[in-house]
Amino acid sequence: MDRKYELLSKYFGYKQFRPGQEELVDAALSGSDVFGIMPTGGGKSMCYQLPALMMRGITLVISPLISLMKDQVLSLKNSGISAAYINSSLTLEQLHKVYSYMADRRFKIIYVAPERLFNEGFLNTLSKLEVSMVAVDEAHCISQWGQDFRPSYLKIPQFISLLPVRPVVSAFTATATDEVQRDIVRLLELRSPKTVVTGFDRPNLYFDVLRPGNKTDKLISLISERRDKCGIVYCSTRKDVERVTEALLEKGFLAARYHAGLSDEERRRSQDDFIYDRKNIIVATNAFGMGIDKSNVSYVIHFNMPKSPEAYYQEAGRAGRDGEFAECILLFSPKDIATAKFLINNSNENEELSEEERAAVTEGDNARLDKMVTYCNTSGCLRSYMLRYFGQNTEDFCGNCGSCKNESILTDVTREAQIILSAVKKIGDTLGYTPGETFIIKVLKGSGDKRIAELRLNDISAFGMLSEEKTDRIRSIFDRLLFDGYCRRNEFEGIVLTNKARAVISGEESIFMTERLSPERKRKKSSAAKLTVGDAGLYDILRAVRMRIAKQQGVPAYVIFSNATLQDMAEKAPVTTEEFLEVSGVGQVKAQLYGDIFIEKIKNYLSVI
Ligand code: ADP
Ligand code: ZN
Repeated sequence: MDRKYELLSKYFGYKQFRPGQEELVDAALSGSDVFGIMPTGGGKSMCYQLPALMMRGITLVISPLISLMKDQVLSLKNSGISAAYINSSLTLEQLHKVYSYMADRRFKIIYVAPERLFNEGFLNTLSKLEVSMVAVDEAHCISQWGQDFRPSYLKIPQFISLLPVRPVVSAFTATATDEVQRDIVRLLELRSPKTVVTGFDRPNLYFDVLRPGNKTDKLISLISERRDKCGIVYCSTRKDVERVTEALLEKGFLAARYHAGLSDEERRRSQDDFIYDRKNIIVATNAFGMGIDKSNVSYVIHFNMPKSPEAYYQEAGRAGRDGEFAECILLFSPKDIATAKFLINNSNENEELSEEERAAVTEGDNARLDKMVTYCNTSGCLRSYMLRYFGQNTEDFCGNCGSCKNESILTDVTREAQIILSAVKKIGDTLGYTPGETFIIKVLKGSGDKRIAELRLNDISAFGMLSEEKTDRIRSIFDRLLFDGYCRRNEFEGIVLTNKARAVISGEESIFMTERLSPERKRKKSSAAKLTVGDAGLYDILRAVRMRIAKQQGVPAYVIFSNATLQDMAEKAPVTTEEFLEVSGVGQVKAQLYGDIFIEKIKNYLSVI
């Protein structure tokens, strides 16, 4: 057998490569530079870890993310591969120990933060060693056009030139437009790199956009249905993080909060509680997630619409890294657009930019925001919308998103639209100013709200005109009218009619809308179907075993085995070591370490059913 397959199976427990992996591994092994562009969860680390095992010298992995380094090293050690990391979290004593073990050639792979490359002790140690490969993770950090520019990345070529022999240089990223890709090759001085771009699709992710009347209620019901799962709830503002966390805690959920306004200590605690499965929900701003490698996140719910498709796909993409079915749900309301605009206008205050540059950046931000709003409003396939945005052409139907899974019909909502628009006019005339849509909807519903009576709005004809309709439905028709410009929000957040409204009110123009047949779709999960093949009961038992081992070792559960591996184990129910090795994700070292414990539980289980 080819040696790389042998190692793939022995150390990582996999029988096959994922798309792109083998080409990159082969190229690196033949001495060529490589450049891999793969989506999050695509398996980039394998592309340098496997060659590292087969190369003579050591492999340095440059990574900006301290938390990720620690995780990767833990995982490698757990698979029987000797590795270490060098970053600011080490004490001087630990650092010297790492250097001396390095000098003794005890490590095959070293993770290092870019700021540490020119450290004297590090360079001294390296001068006595053979470096076979330098792998640059999150390579987009080298580009000013990328989302996360790190000036220290620019010095990587200089560092490489200090090494006695130029090693293979490999670079990896999940997000790179053409421009950023060119920057990476040029600035890292890659030499005719073997470049592989795998698609951006994440077939195991289910995408959906909901427009609930009350987001908090909706969130609580979504999370209640996923009680045993772990997930991330993203909010746009710190205030929302606080509010939402509060609401979840009140309902008895185990939720941690995370935003830039908290102390370092609390942030770390929240993050660890989540990663180590002490709390299964984290409510966070976009400050959370860079470098979080937790593979068993089953859902990412966005409480607000993010500013761009790039941000959304990256955040949502933190779900389902283990390849299991996972959900990405966005709770949209038109108010999110105003919040996003506010954030855009207040984030581009970078002092280093000229007036002109700043204007250009803001313009780009607004264009991306428009694309994001369109995503929220499209009745077409959500996945293909995203993939096309990233330049990948796909079919119109994916079968695994809110639009594709729900039968929708085109309905004539002209009557409702007329009533809404007339109400906007009537209420405005009566009050002399215009309130926001929530209040207008209350009037249309015939609400008993005291303020409505005080303002005598229960006397106007619009009062209670749509009392039979669900608030959600009125709101989505309202959204549609706003989106298509029949009315708009003024600077006080009040709704006013535009010229376009007249044609609708007079009946000259009809309004059609795609509506879902069942707004609360039945969630048929592909993973549920898979579970019946194996056994849900056994799966839960195996999870408990994993949890116990992880606790004993003080490592995150997925470092022991991923959910995908446990799923496969539950299906195969191995009772011998040979059978145990057949489970995807079980290598020889892990089989030795954990085989007996799991097999014993499986045998017990089989004897009682
Ligand atoms: P990325 O860095 O691209 O986001 P990772 O390297 O963290 O992705 O890999 C994501 C998950 O995929 C990990 O749990 C990893 O063990 C798994 N994985 C990697 N390669 C394979 C493979 N060939 N077969 C099955 N699973 C794999
Ligand atoms: Zn679809």
